[in-house]
This record gives sequence, C-alpha cells and structure tokens, in this order.
Amino acid sequence: MLRLTELALPIEHAPEALAPAIQQRLRLPDGDLRTFTVFKRSYDARKKGSALSFVYTVDCELRDEAAVLAKFKDDRNVNPAPDVSYHPVAAAPAGFGNRPLVVGFGPCGIFAALILAQMGFRPIVLERGKPVRKRTKDTWGLWRKNALNPASNVQFGEGGAGLFSDGKLYSQVKDPKFHGRKVLHEFVKAGAPEEILYVSKPHIGTFRLTGVVTRMREEIEALGGEVRFEQQVTDLQVEDGHLRGVTLASGETIAADHVILALGHSARETFRMLHARSVYMEAKPFSIGFRIEHPQSLIDRARLGRYAGHPLLGAADYKLVHHAKNGRSVYSFCMCPGGTVVAATSEPQRVVTNGMSQYSRNERNANAGIVVGISPEDYPGGVEAGPLTGIALQEELESRAYVLGGGNYEAPAQLVGDFIAGQPSTALGEVEPSYKPGVKLGDLAPSLPDYAIEAIREALPAFGKQIRGFDRHDAVLTGVETRTSSPLRITRGDNYQSLNTRGLYPAGEGAGYAGGIMSAGIDGIRVAEALALSLLADAQQR
Ligand code: FAD
Repeated sequence: MLRLTELALPIEHAPEALAPAIQQRLRLPDGDLRTFTVFKRSYDARKKGSALSFVYTVDCELRDEAAVLAKFKDDRNVNPAPDVSYHPVAAAPAGFGNRPLVVGFGPCGIFAALILAQMGFRPIVLERGKPVRKRTKDTWGLWRKNALNPASNVQFGEGGAGLFSDGKLYSQVKDPKFHGRKVLHEFVKAGAPEEILYVSKPHIGTFRLTGVVTRMREEIEALGGEVRFEQQVTDLQVEDGHLRGVTLASGETIAADHVILALGHSARETFRMLHARSVYMEAKPFSIGFRIEHPQSLIDRARLGRYAGHPLLGAADYKLVHHAKNGRSVYSFCMCPGGTVVAATSEPQRVVTNGMSQYSRNERNANAGIVVGISPEDYPGGVEAGPLTGIALQEELESRAYVLGGGNYEAPAQLVGDFIAGQPSTALGEVEPSYKPGVKLGDLAPSLPDYAIEAIREALPAFGKQIRGFDRHDAVLTGVETRTSSPLRITRGDNYQSLNTRGLYPAGEGAGYAGGIMSAGIDGIRVAEALALSLLADAQQR
C-alpha cells in the first residue's frame, strides 16, 4: 500500500474526480490504480481570499507499487503506507477463570472492557450510573425541571462524561501504535458515520453517540463480558500492597486482583476513598473559567470568509490562546460549534458548565470554555495541602456559582461587554444563552479568584482581534467551568499499575491520563493490553 499526501482538489469536486487526480499525480497508466481509501481529508481556511481546497491523504493499492515508490523516491508526499491496523497483544486461554474488573463505563472503561472482551478475558464492568435510556431521562430532569439526580446525570452513567457532548474525536496525544484508529473503527462498527475515519476533526454528536455506546456494550456482553449498572465501588481490599478486591455500595464484595479504575474526573468521593486507602496520588494542574456564547454565523464568517455556511464545511470552530500580563494563560476549551451550553453538575447545590452538540451542529450559537490554567500552588493550602486540594477548590467555586445563580441550578451569567467594564449585567442583547434550566444575569467577578478574572478580562479583547466580534458587548459568559480535567493524578508506573498498589490500573481522565473521548479510549486500550499481559504472566507463575 502506498500513501499519497497533500493531494488538493477544489472543495466542490465530484467524488469521481479523486481517482483520476491520484492517477495523474502518480503518473499511472490506466488500470494501475487498483483501489484506494481516503485516510484523511482536511481544509485550510487560514489564507483569506484564496479558493478553498480539500487536501487529501490517500492510501493506494497499485499494480506495481515498488516501481512507483522508486519513481517518486525524492517526493516527500509519496511513501509506503504505515500499518495502522490493530493487532491484539494477547489471547485468553480457553476457560481462563481470572476475570478482570473495569470500574467506570465512560470512553476509557468502554474501550478497556471491549479490548479485554475481544481478547477473551470476559471482564466485569461496574458502573455507578444507569444505562443510556434511564440516564438520559435523569439528565433531562436537571435541564428541564431543575431536579438533579446525584446518582445519574451528565457525569455518571453508561457512556461516561462523554455521552452528552459534542463528541469531538480528536486528540493530540502521542499514539505510536495507532490505537486512535482502533477507537474510530470500533465507533464506526457500532454505528458512527464512516466519515469519522477520514475527516480531520471528526465528531459524532450526542444523539448518535448514545446508540454507539449501547451497541458497544452489547458486543462486550456477546463476548462473555458483563456490564453491571448502579454498582458504585466504595472501597478496596488491599493486602501487603496487592489489590484483592472491591466493595460496592450495596455491601457486596467482589474478589479481584486486576482492576482498571476508569473513574472520570468527577468521582470525588471515590478519590477520597482511594486516598484514605493510601493509593498514591498527587495534585495536578487543571483550568477554570466560563463558557462563552456567540452566534455561530459570527464564527463562520470570521473563519471561513465567503465559504461561511458552506454545507460541505459545516459549522466552523476556533482555538484561541492568550498569555496575560499576570503570567496566566487563557485559552478556549472544548469548543462546540452549533451547540448548547449544558448544566454539568453531579452534586447537589453546585453549578458547573460544559458544552454539547448534535451531529448536525445546527444550533444557533457557538460555545466554548474560556479558561485559565491553574496549578497546585493556587489550591487552598497549596502543594503541602495534599492531593485532594484541587477538588476542594472546584467544590468551592461550584458552590459559589450555585448561590450566584439564585440557588435553583440556574447559572450565573454576564454579557462580555459588562464583564470587561466590571459592571453587572441586567438585560440580554441579541445573543440568547442556551444554558438550561436558565441563567441569572449579574456580575461574574465573585465567582472565580481575582487572578482568573483579571486574565480573562484581558484575554477577551485580545481574542476579538483574532475573531472579529468575539468581544462584542452582548456575547454571553456563563459560569463556572471547573471540570476541565482531573485535579489530581493517580500515578502509575511503566507497567500501568498504581505506584504502590499492585493490580490496580488507574486509567483515563480521572486518573490524569486523558483529556477527552479519544485520549480516554486510547488509554483504555493501552491499560487493557498491559493488564492482559500481566494476567497471563501471573497465571503462568502459579
Ligand atoms: P468518564 O467519561 O468520566 O467516565 C467515568 C465513569 O466512571 C462514569 O460513567 C462514572 O459514573 C463511573 N464511576 C465513577 N466513579 C465510580 C465508582 N466509584 N464506581 C463505579 N463507577 C464509577 N471530550 C471530547 O473529546 N470531545 C467532546 O466533544 C467532549 N464534550 C464534552 C461535553 C460534556 C458535557 C462533558 C461533561 C465532557 C465532554 N468531553 C468531551 C470530555 C469527555 O467526556 C471526557 O474526557 C471523557 O468522557 C473521559 O472519559 P473517562 O472514561 O476517562 O471518564
């Protein structure tokens, strides 16, 4: 297989135009191009005024690949295609009895369980929340009726935190074994649109993701795995540094010496339990801020110029960074084109924002977190206060937001112009906030530490220079965005196990090893592979 990169065609080209373009670029006689697949398709909208092209990477099967490679040996865009297919690292012997546990069924736990199931290890998944359907009903309870279910919500339940999301499927993690391709292939197999395999910034959207997750669970079960809902792990049994089992909220104990902990970043009581059991962990940096909303048309115009609204390009996104004078970095986070701001708390009397969209991304507003990086020195008590102090800060800010929002799960909000001017907002402009159950206009300054407010105030006009209108008076800020990533790391060694608790595999976002659906899925695969190899090695020694 040969890989051809940077093949540009006008965006409105017919699908049939691709094969002749490849043939022409590689100077192939008729019939020499046997088949090809598009590996990646992107566009570059940065050069304003010039005609926009799709830029392809294609993998081609040729009649005489060696001859073509020799002919183009000095051409950096013509190379042998790498093998990106997935190769399982182990297979469980028939009747293998030592079943691993996977705690949490978000993207990390799903992929860990799927890979273990595909290798024949018949994992048992313990998920504290409910299956998709019931969970969706509970989550809508907060959004529509101001009623939070702390056991079943945006953070907890089948599909994890990524279920009600924009479903963006890209990440910047190093992925030398192409596990990201495995993640995408499994999503497609479970019903995601095939284009996620090649568009440069794939996304699924909430509605489709719910079906995909259900089908992945069905595959795990068909392969002999079990997925148990409403089973919260509340304690661990550890003997001489070896994990021996877990206890559930029901009081049931399950013996196990290989357990993946894929908890997500909101499992605060579980983090506290692990700390009490002396599992090694440390505080780590995360970010705090607000969600910002603009009309999507404003972002499209700024990003795509005359191609704004083009159906082949979809709603435009952005990524912004500003280094403030007080030393803080402010950046856009989890940008959701054509989406909505969502209530994302899992705890009573707290308010947290995040963003989601449907596959079509056709809601009126664009939203993104505008957040400031903070580190353990900023947490109450500083570094000396231990690994849980970042959680204490999150809790404090989320409680403040609840009070500022009026104490009924509405979120505090302010217009960008008023925020920059330091005056409370009293009326909306043209931009209508999408947060449900609703927002309470006022002053956001008391919701975050002064250094964060100062840095965001400086960043917004700077962002307005990059995207015209970004700092328009009536853009809406909604607070607070505090769960950008885990505030701690459950540190693991080269063998993917906890530094001091053998058999415990901290994984995914909650453990500090992922920051998004794709990276959590990749981490789940890596950890499942390490666990499988360790299980087999232990079995051989017995
Ligand atoms: P989670 O998805 O958080 O899953 C952890 C699971 O563990 C949960 O289901 C939880 O119920 C369970 N659990 C916790 N404690 C216990 C316990 N003690 N016992 C049993 N079960 C337990 N990322 C993207 O890449 N793209 C996006 O577009 C995107 N949009 C998002 C939108 C929203 C609204 C939110 C909230 C997040 C979004 N994210 C997005 C982030 C993404 O969802 C997370 O990075 C990802 O889900 C992390 O995966 P995970 O499996 O590590 O953890």
